[in-house]
Amino acid sequence: CGIVGYIGNQDSKEILLKGLEKLEYRGYDSAGIAVVNEAGVQVFKEKGRIADLRAIVDEKVLANTGIGHTRWATHGIPSQENAHPHQSNSGRYTLVHNGVIENYEQMKREFLQGVELKSETDTEVIVQMIDQFAKELSTEEAFRKTLQQLKGSYALALVDNEDKSTIYVAKNKSPLLVGLGEAFNVVASDAMAMIQITDQYVELMDKEMVMVTKDGVTIKNLKGEKIERAPYTAELDA
Ligand code: GLU
Repeated sequence: CGIVGYIGNQDSKEILLKGLEKLEYRGYDSAGIAVVNEAGVQVFKEKGRIADLRAIVDEKVLANTGIGHTRWATHGIPSQENAHPHQSNSGRYTLVHNGVIENYEQMKREFLQGVELKSETDTEVIVQMIDQFAKELSTEEAFRKTLQQLKGSYALALVDNEDKSTIYVAKNKSPLLVGLGEAFNVVASDAMAMIQITDQYVELMDKEMVMVTKDGVTIKNLKGEKIERAPYTAELDA
């Protein structure tokens, strides 16, 4: 199970697929990517190997922003429907998640009355909550409000098809790093995934969220206060 993300000037799909291949050794049952461009978001996901995912990714779709996932199913069988990324019903938000949300049944009852869920995952509840909250809040605020409610473990990467300039990430008890490049930035659950394009990483602490753009990263805690943190150099064999 793993997460990758890319935002920059390059086409993201090959970078995401290569990153996921680097994480294959961790084990998984399904994989998927979502890429965002002017036309909106496109999701490709499949049960099985990264090679199976590669086979369904549309080569013609060019997008500078994207997120990817390998799934180790905990809630819901390995299937195309339960594979990540998951989308809110409006189609606006697309999310990948590693971990387990312990209170997702309660979240469903409290915040998602009347919302029809498309998968059996704990993850889908998160993306549907963000969409509900975003009816009255900015994406950053809706994401934070959602995170304040969640119990359990998560590494998350979120894209908003109304604003392709930002990937929103957060973590609690599951690993997640932000990698820094020249005119691009990346997200990875393990530096191994992106070591070929950058060795500069910023570590995230539990209950932090980050707004990642191609030019910078803004780290905040769940009260919305900014946090400064210097990057470190990852020493891995590329
Ligand atoms: N709990 C989520 C699911 O079952 C994420 C599993 C993972 O960490 O890959 O879909």
